Amino acid sequence: MFDQYGRKIEYLRLSLTDRCNLRCRYCMPAAGVLKMRHEDILTFDEILTVLRPLARLGIKKVRLTGGEPLVRKGLPDLLAMIARVPGIEQTALTTNGVLLAEMAGALQSAGLTELNISLDTLQAPVFTGITRRALLDRVKAGLQTVRELGLRQVKINCVPLAGVNEQELPELAALAKDWAVKVRFIELMPIGCGWQAGYRGVPLQAVRRQLEAAYGPLIPVTPVEPGVWGPASYYKIPGWAGEIGFIDALEHKFCHNCNRVRLTADGYLKLCLNQRSGLDVKALLRRGVSEDELGQALAQAVYRKPAEHLFGELHGHDWRAMYQVGG
Ligand code: SAM
Ligand code: SF4
Repeated sequence: MFDQYGRKIEYLRLSLTDRCNLRCRYCMPAAGVLKMRHEDILTFDEILTVLRPLARLGIKKVRLTGGEPLVRKGLPDLLAMIARVPGIEQTALTTNGVLLAEMAGALQSAGLTELNISLDTLQAPVFTGITRRALLDRVKAGLQTVRELGLRQVKINCVPLAGVNEQELPELAALAKDWAVKVRFIELMPIGCGWQAGYRGVPLQAVRRQLEAAYGPLIPVTPVEPGVWGPASYYKIPGWAGEIGFIDALEHKFCHNCNRVRLTADGYLKLCLNQRSGLDVKALLRRGVSEDELGQALAQAVYRKPAEHLFGELHGHDWRAMYQVGG
């Protein structure tokens, strides 16, 4: 399916919950988190009822996210059902890794094709400082399980934060030395509560220079596997099994290539990460529309996808945090 600017939309980011077992300072406030009501969250049946017409319209890849998707009960069953929807070729998941040691095997059996693990630090005090939970050991156990299971297409996502994890970025990158993972550095975005928490991002050019000072020149790579790809640019370091990636949403706007839409846990189709425009899918579902009618409404909404994000501007924003809209 194409939008009004001719962009091919093939990728759905599906938020399963706004709940989380961490409280990352740039994503969630310490207290006063406004939770979605249980009855407002789409059921598995409802999710599949939206996904079938979306897949017929050309969605090929689904990424499960949140909040923390692994806290949603019955997740491996849902994943297996999604993987069986005709037209869905890639099933991905983004997690903080806390529950991976217990769940990675079930996810693999359910047909997961890509796994992203968010990890900003390897130092326990820094982890506890960022996430407000002393759970780094659980995440490390999760990484170990994923390695042992031999899951393919694993990415580690790190948000560089000035004066917080800045010094250990080469060490984080080195996870890709003898493990075929992609370690990606993602710019801190003006969404959620990063700025209120006092965090400042590190310009990715500076991260690149830091890595080159530690390991020598980064050599650009172009993706060779078929599939639906995101906005990262990837680099090799000679002799390393994995790769290094950079996603700089602000410096180099990637909106002209955007291939995605989002469905929030409470059933709102969001057309752009930081804009409110979209479609109240839950209202349609609960009014009992047919799958054909739903498909038409989805296609019309996607056609109206905005040209670009508004991070640099003052008006028209969706001020909700990543955990609320499915980061
Ligand atoms: N809980 C899961 C996790 O942390 O991977 C999935 C949802 S979380 C909202 C998805 C990603 O959003 C995480 O990698 C997190 O680092 C990122 N994120 C949250 N707030 C952000 C911000 N203000 N800027 C950049 N990335 C952010
Ligand atoms: Fe939870 Fe992910 Fe947000 Fe951290 S970034 S609070 S793990 S949803």
